[in-house]
Amino acid sequence: MERKNFEGEPVSTGTGVGKVFIIKESDIEINEDIIDESEVEAQITNLEVAICRTFIEIYDLNDGFRGILSEEENRIFDFYKEILDDRTFFEEIKNLIKNERYRADMAIHTCIKKYIDEISESNNEYIKQRVFDLNDVAKRLIKNISGGISDENDIKIKEINSEQIVVIKELTPIIAASLAKKEVKGVVAEEGAGYFTHASIILRSTGIPAINGICIDEIEKFHDNPAIIDGEKGILIVNPTEREMDDFKFGSSRKPLCIKDSKNSGILFEGRPVETADGHRVGLFVNISSVKEFFAAKSLGIDGVGLVRTESLFINYKKIPDEKRQYLIYSKIAKEISGKPVVIRTADIGGDKVPGALGINDQSLSRSPRGIKRSLEHKKELITQIRAIMRAAEFGEVSISFPMVDSIKQIKEVKSIIEEVSVELTEKNGQPLKSIRIGTMIETAESVKIIEEILNEVDFISIGTNDMLHQICEQNRKCSTLEMRSYLEPVFLQTLKYCVDKAIEKNKPASVCGEMATDPMAVIVLLGIGVKDLSMGPAYIEDIGRFIRTVKLDEAKEAARRAMEGRSLQEVKDMLSEWIKSRM
Ligand code: PEP
Ligand code: MG
Repeated sequence: MERKNFEGEPVSTGTGVGKVFIIKESDIEINEDIIDESEVEAQITNLEVAICRTFIEIYDLNDGFRGILSEEENRIFDFYKEILDDRTFFEEIKNLIKNERYRADMAIHTCIKKYIDEISESNNEYIKQRVFDLNDVAKRLIKNISGGISDENDIKIKEINSEQIVVIKELTPIIAASLAKKEVKGVVAEEGAGYFTHASIILRSTGIPAINGICIDEIEKFHDNPAIIDGEKGILIVNPTEREMDDFKFGSSRKPLCIKDSKNSGILFEGRPVETADGHRVGLFVNISSVKEFFAAKSLGIDGVGLVRTESLFINYKKIPDEKRQYLIYSKIAKEISGKPVVIRTADIGGDKVPGALGINDQSLSRSPRGIKRSLEHKKELITQIRAIMRAAEFGEVSISFPMVDSIKQIKEVKSIIEEVSVELTEKNGQPLKSIRIGTMIETAESVKIIEEILNEVDFISIGTNDMLHQICEQNRKCSTLEMRSYLEPVFLQTLKYCVDKAIEKNKPASVCGEMATDPMAVIVLLGIGVKDLSMGPAYIEDIGRFIRTVKLDEAKEAARRAMEGRSLQEVKDMLSEWIKSRM
């Protein structure tokens, strides 16, 4: 069977192995015949019924997600409801039926097309993405005009099961929601799953790996063939080699954060802290990118939140949320985690990193500096965020952290802002503010060089292996060509050990919060080089926790030593793979 690699835009992280399931778009057929006057009333009735049916469909779907998507994420459905509830929109369609003598389907099509043409002109990426939602509304209405008979896509969706990677021509939010409910292994879309679409928001929130922008015609012939999806890299490998399958072995066993799991209220670790087989405690923390993820993670018996990616929390907003909004989100997390530590990282925006939904021009964003550098150029925004975090810190063990730091000057500047905010809030509240622990990400090449000075300034560090690896390899993370598991490259492992050693020397906690921490092969090395705290997406916590319980620290130390002395990446991968197999 022909092996083939497809590359697209990564929109939802995670990996999966499954069979390709193709859903090709069924074009909606519009009847362009002009009607007689006597048919006008009947067509208007058809329209009213279709609107009603579509409304119910959306409500049903929305209901199915209650308590699963966050309040913000549920607003996705509001957009649909607003259109269907819009009297002007309804009147416009009605007038086309009355005056132009269009049939109801033709009138809907004409009217929505007009709206789509208008918003396609917009420079705002968020608004532009609503084209897919409008198209979806049109399709649903037209389907419901014809008596609600299921269209081809609906029928196909019924055939889908959780062992498949769905490849679809145009993903709509409603289809995304249905696929999320089916807990498919992954979704690949030709269109409709751009980073800011509602469809991709749903997939991210439900932990389904997804890629956008891959031409379905090229994949069609691979229907029912085995494939691997890597949502982080935006790669679909059809008919992978045995070695690739092996590489993904752990990936495939990782469950996405599925709907079922999010309702799980059991403590995964039976109330016992996670320790290695020989009794060394390892802190398991969660990285969160949405409120939904936080609630899903809360029940997992985690030690705290190791990283709040605030830029991702903002993704559903049209602009960066104001202080009150941010304060509400952060304080909710701080209160709900009941005394466990939470590290809130200021927004990591800019360069090749995300969110255009925030009213920031995409193009200028890709040229702008990233992380703390950008934040310091947007002081007002940064101060607002720091204030919100510091106010929320009153409710729990909240620490603040900064992304992409590459100079001591930046740390000194943010520390002086924290000091000023602290004085101001103390005056306002009439009592001293709780002091907040300050940390930083170690994820730029420069931060590694100055790590000793950094450690003198901060209370803790979080090693961001995703960016660090790309920086060291001088690769753009968005269109990375790095080989799978490149973080096991001996030189990179030595760099990590150097950082961890420095933190131990200075007696400052160092956690690892990149994707590397979700890979058992890498976890062996991380434990072996002295990492005591790992932070990862909620979907991986259970597997990694259980895996750690099988590892003896002395053996991990030995494996780490051998890995750092390895002559090639492949040699390290083979050695660690053997290591694991021999213990299973
Ligand atoms: C990292 O770079 O490893 C990290 C955890 O930060 P992010 O993935 O949010 O850039
Ligand atoms: Mg990073």
